[in-house]
Amino acid sequence: MKFLSCADYLSPDLPVPGGSLPLDPLSACRPEPQPAEGCRRCAALADGRDRAKRMRDWSIVTDFNILLRAHPHPGEPG
Ligand SMILES: [Zn+2]
Repeated sequence: MKFLSCADYLSPDLPVPGGSLPLDPLSACRPEPQPAEGCRRCAALADGRDRAKRMRDWSIVTDFNILLRAHPHPGEPG
């Protein structure tokens, strides 16, 4: 089995199953970071996170959440 990285999930060429989005089992413990409005990087990260969810690759979903939280937005509090 091939292990995928965040970069693989950021590629639009990665085939992912359709249907409804599986719920991250970890999101019950810790709320997911939301992408900042109008930020292309956040939108790309959230997109990759959704692909990882469809593949039920929860360690990558966690990685994307870390990337989303760490992504700086000048002028925002926190
Ligand atoms: Zn952003």
